[in-house]
Amino acid sequence: MILNEPYVLSATKKTTPEVTTFTFKAQSGKSIDFSSGMFAMLTHIDKQTGEKISRAFSMANCPPSDSLQFFISLIGGKLTTKLAEANVGDVYYISAPYGQFKFDINSGNKLLFLAGGTGLAPFFSMLQYIISKGAKPDIVLLYSVKYPNDIIEKEELERMVQELGGKLVVTVTRPKPEDKWDGETGHVNADMIKKYVPDVTERVSYICGPPAFVKALKDGLTGLGVPEKEIKAEMWG
Ligand SMILES: Cc1cc2nc3c(=O)[nH]c(=O)nc-3n(C[C@H](O)[C@H](O)[C@H](O)COP(=O)(O)OP(=O)(O)OC[C@H]3O[C@@H](n4cnc5c(N)ncnc54)[C@H](O)[C@@H]3O)c2cc1C
Repeated sequence: MILNEPYVLSATKKTTPEVTTFTFKAQSGKSIDFSSGMFAMLTHIDKQTGEKISRAFSMANCPPSDSLQFFISLIGGKLTTKLAEANVGDVYYISAPYGQFKFDINSGNKLLFLAGGTGLAPFFSMLQYIISKGAKPDIVLLYSVKYPNDIIEKEELERMVQELGGKLVVTVTRPKPEDKWDGETGHVNADMIKKYVPDVTERVSYICGPPAFVKALKDGLTGLGVPEKEIKAEMWG
């Protein structure tokens, strides 16, 4: 466990209208090992007042690494306001890794990933990790976003899923006519899972996203007969 080490903001990338990818590099140059799915506590310290604000963020990059990458939705809250004004070179403090939502490459050969919004982050890490290990599990990723332009790292996501021979289904919950979205629409629910994942009971399921998303899908999966022990979930908020 690394305790509150200084990390330098080394890159930012506006990934969608709401989400920016932040990359922090350990000042010490030390590498952190973590399981995909785990999170870090990111702390901003106000130089004038010394006030500390800490929030949890899930790693989106492949372990192990001397950098940590986060997909952060800039919602105008206490820490996200600081991050919206952050510059490359700024120092934050990070302790990591934490959490029980850990990807286990031996958990099964058939996997279902259910991501809501920035809840894609752990799956982005998992896909990179799986590729780095040369594994080829059978993966279905159902990813829910409000609008088509909310899809995080669309091209890279599609590339990784294709490399693994998996299936990616993006569903848009609030499509507008001008989006000309011809893909799936509406919230992920039991019916959508049945449609795209008829063999859901043979899969280990991982869910990450806002509390309502996680709760609804845990209930949806158990309703479809998936045993609770085959469901791993991370709830944000
Ligand atoms: C384990 C874990 C992992 C997490 N990983 C990530 C991650 O990878 N990326 C990420 O972006 N967040 C992640 N979060 C959420 C993150 O920790 C913060 O809660 C979030 O960034 C808001 O912090 P803040 O200080 O800016 O807001 P705060 O000042 O704490 O205010 C948050 C308030 O904003 C409101 N709010 C919440 N969401 C929204 C929204 N979308 N729009 C408008 N208002 C909203 C809520 O009512 C809440 O009261 C994670 C949380 C947990 C528990």
